[in-house]
Amino acid sequence: MVTPSGVILGGVAVDRERIVYVGSDDLFTESPSSHRRRGGICDSRTNRPPCAHGGAPGVPFEEELYRQFKNETEGALRGVTTFGHMIMAPQHESNFRYLNALIKAGNELFLRRLFSHGVVTSELHLAEQPELWRRGVTSFKHFWNAYKGADGMGILSHTDESIAYRSLLFIAEKGYPGVAMFHCEEIDPIYLLTEKLRKQGRNDLEAWAESRPPWAEAKRIYDAIEMAKNAGNPPCYIVHISCAEGVDLVAGARQRGYPVWGETNPAFLTHTCKMDDLGAGVR
Ligand SMILES: [Zn+2]
Repeated sequence: MVTPSGVILGGVAVDRERIVYVGSDDLFTESPSSHRRRGGICDSRTNRPPCAHGGAPGVPFEEELYRQFKNETEGALRGVTTFGHMIMAPQHESNFRYLNALIKAGNELFLRRLFSHGVVTSELHLAEQPELWRRGVTSFKHFWNAYKGADGMGILSHTDESIAYRSLLFIAEKGYPGVAMFHCEEIDPIYLLTEKLRKQGRNDLEAWAESRPPWAEAKRIYDAIEMAKNAGNPPCYIVHISCAEGVDLVAGARQRGYPVWGETNPAFLTHTCKMDDLGAGVR
């Protein structure tokens, strides 16, 4: 177990979907109703940039992949046996170039199991879905992110609602094991707030958080859940949730029986937006 205070020989006890104990092996008790399993962890979507998202700005994807895959593998040896990687094709580029590069690098360097998430941000990507599915890519990320192409972040282009809706219909029609992933941010208010804070001369970390209020994320999580419900109800996976409002929406949908899941980033559990509150200390 890798913990904030060091590495211990031990594990995690899980009761249904909840972590109920973290500790060393000899302190684990066997209960008649529990299974003790030794096995691996599936990191369903690696969140360590730049590899997870396909390269740092300006660095070619393949080069970054080769540079980072070694670190990823070393991380995997700590217990993670399966990784999900983003293909991360820009809006006007095919998923296949990135998928092929990922498979090549994975076969050469990766010591653990690897699967890929496709990207759906354009008509081109929509058209690629059947062939991606045939090749084993069955989860697709949709980007409602707060970047507009004009500010140099074109790689993270926005998925419009028509494309997201048709992608959901495709995933629902295909059935298991299809998953629709959503990056949830409401772009226009974030641009407005960013501009306002910039004009005030704000350039600090807290300004970043102020420009991205929880409601701007929660609104898009609501959109994703409702859109999925009305597009054949495929499994919906909300990535990197950073606010309580988002957790409530996912929990509410699950309570009502909808196939909705959410994840967060380790950084969101260890940091707040306060400048003097940085660090992975246990609180
Ligand atoms: Zn994202």
